[in-house]
Amino acid sequence: MRDMDTFGDLDIDLGVPGDTGRAGRNIDYEDDKNKAVEFLEKYITSDTHIHKYMNYLQEVADRRRKRIVVSLDDVMTYTGDADFVDNIQRNTYRYLEVFKTAIDELMVGMEPSDGVHIVEDVFDTLQATRVQAELNEQQANGLEGGDAGNSQNRRPAFPPELVRRYELNILPLFKTKAISLRNLSASQIGSSVRIKGIVTRISGVKPMVSIATYTCDSCGYEIYQEVIGKNFMPCVVCPSQECQANNISGKLYMQTRGSKFVRYQEIKIQELPNQVPVGHIPRSMTVIARGDLTRKVNAGEVTTISGVFLPTPFTGVRAIRAGLIADTYLEAMELELEKKSYDVSAGPLSYIFIFSLLVSTKIYRTNMLT
Ligand SMILES: [Zn+2]
Repeated sequence: MRDMDTFGDLDIDLGVPGDTGRAGRNIDYEDDKNKAVEFLEKYITSDTHIHKYMNYLQEVADRRRKRIVVSLDDVMTYTGDADFVDNIQRNTYRYLEVFKTAIDELMVGMEPSDGVHIVEDVFDTLQATRVQAELNEQQANGLEGGDAGNSQNRRPAFPPELVRRYELNILPLFKTKAISLRNLSASQIGSSVRIKGIVTRISGVKPMVSIATYTCDSCGYEIYQEVIGKNFMPCVVCPSQECQANNISGKLYMQTRGSKFVRYQEIKIQELPNQVPVGHIPRSMTVIARGDLTRKVNAGEVTTISGVFLPTPFTGVRAIRAGLIADTYLEAMELELEKKSYDVSAGPLSYIFIFSLLVSTKIYRTNMLT
């Protein structure tokens, strides 16, 4: 009941892959990926005349940068294609993958700059071993008389996410206004929005698995499982053809060191007092920050968050009760502090502010009940 009027708007566009864009035109993601490649490669800043994004990619190759931020204003300036930009803004989550594929393509064979010495880490060693294993297998198959097609089926290729050394964020157009939580509507699910509010609670920063790697104790293959969302079902039985052909259900063991983890933090934001109409309860929402976006805000700070408005389906027992109803959250792309006070004396004041917010919430609640 709490968010009933948020979903009052019936113009629902879930922005799922393969849907149609503006005016019912079919979106060709391959074509859009090529546009993204061209943009990242050729975009030059108007003031400093540098290849902004190629420099970013070089810094990623040099291991000096982890986060790449693509600004839709830059895309608009370079392409001048309002439809393309509109599609990205309305279906941002899908386009993150499109841009990541474009970046992967541009980074193939990109070497570190001269004079940059890269210290190999666990990740490099594992990667080298994996590539070597693949080569050995290809050679072995070659000697047997070329059974390349079969080997492709047996060993799954590496998931692209496993070898990426960057995080990608897409920022909405500069002119996108920062709105309050109660102005978000169902029609904006899947799209980039900008929201202003006060941080009321932050969780600790925890590692979250994004690619789980398993090894099979019967055939020795590595199995990768991409994890999307908060919950996942661990793989137990080996799916490789070797195990299936021999009718063995190979047992899988998860390899913590071979898996990929990202930093993960949950932030609760609440409407500011001036955004709440008289007699209403301030609304709140969960924001999820990953990677370099964690530890950017603290409780009590007023912040403007750019992000993608997404649904979270309920899981477990709650899913049975909820049916088709989903909760929503904001996947953070950028967190900006409205005002950060470095004055120590201002500390307790912000606590008083939160306290007054909590108190006012309580008063509204009692009003509701009586
Ligand atoms: Zn196996």
